[in-house]
Amino acid sequence: MNSTRTTPPRPVDVAAVFPQLAPLARTATRLHPRPGEPTLHDSSVGGPLLWPAGEPWPHCEGPHTSGAYSLEVVRLERRVRARKAMNPEDPYAGSYTPEEREVLERVQQTDVDDEWADGPVAMLPVAQLYVRDIPALRPPGGSEADLLQVLWCPLDHTEDVYMPRTAVFWRSAADVTDILVSPPEPPLVEFEEYVPVPCVLAPEEVTEYPNSLELSKELREQLGDWSRWQGADGVDSSYAPYPESFYHGALSVAPGWKAGGWAQWGYTDPMPRLCRACGTEMDPLLTIATVEWNGDDDKWIPYEVRDAAASSGDRRRDALQPTGIQIADCHKQQLYVCPVSPEHPHMELMQ
Ligand SMILES: [Zn+2]
Ligand SMILES: [Zn+2]
Repeated sequence: MNSTRTTPPRPVDVAAVFPQLAPLARTATRLHPRPGEPTLHDSSVGGPLLWPAGEPWPHCEGPHTSGAYSLEVVRLERRVRARKAMNPEDPYAGSYTPEEREVLERVQQTDVDDEWADGPVAMLPVAQLYVRDIPALRPPGGSEADLLQVLWCPLDHTEDVYMPRTAVFWRSAADVTDILVSPPEPPLVEFEEYVPVPCVLAPEEVTEYPNSLELSKELREQLGDWSRWQGADGVDSSYAPYPESFYHGALSVAPGWKAGGWAQWGYTDPMPRLCRACGTEMDPLLTIATVEWNGDDDKWIPYEVRDAAASSGDRRRDALQPTGIQIADCHKQQLYVCPVSPEHPHMELMQ
């Protein structure tokens, strides 16, 4: 596990000002991904998975629109960009080495059969979370599993909204004795932004309250009434004309990658999330976020990241968008699971 990340305390204890919020408090675990070299024994985003050699690697059956970018070239270009960023004074750092040029030529000369996307397409690792690192992560149905693995298909699907289709697995790490060393990979991906940059994590628990759209009308009216906020410790009077924004941006739902907590809404209004197998209300599992903050939520930026957030270029980009992924137009992909059984299908929403 890497160096810690510390979210500043919330400027106001909002449940003290609005006691009706207190029972709605939920723990979310912010993952704070940061580019690194995770091993298969680490919690990670875009890192290697602890996968049993005897279990088939997940493939997506499609139907797909065909991918346009070579996975090998995506990784090569990222290596070159990283080298250039590490050696800003060296005018040649961004040039290809002879070996890299060879790879590019080989890929260019290799025709990927147009029909490959019709067949099963190997999925890419998106996240691997050990319960020892994220204790609030609860496997469904009281299972003993202690490892969550999420993969996605790197191609778009004609019938879906524009976010990658995911697969979710729970397992016990101790059961994986014979490890799959070289998992299959797709030759092409839809976009570079569907290939997560390998990241180590610095999980941190925070307390969240619901998006105001999920609150009662009465409570929403109270949150919008500035006179109720006045006098509370930490209230910034610049929010007087729009106290709802203060609640939305600084006090309710944390931005960025996280496990559990409350769902952020915005792309759509809140909607019921009921299990297709048994009708039970589903729980938020994982939020896959394009960015770690987005303007009005900068009070959630960890202390350790503030300098990078205020800088520019690669340093800022690595802090803002460490995983390099992008969901549609800078959106989030939320995964929900049924608490009754890990066998029941998960659900995904774009927000
Ligand atoms: Zn697919
Ligand atoms: Zn269910």
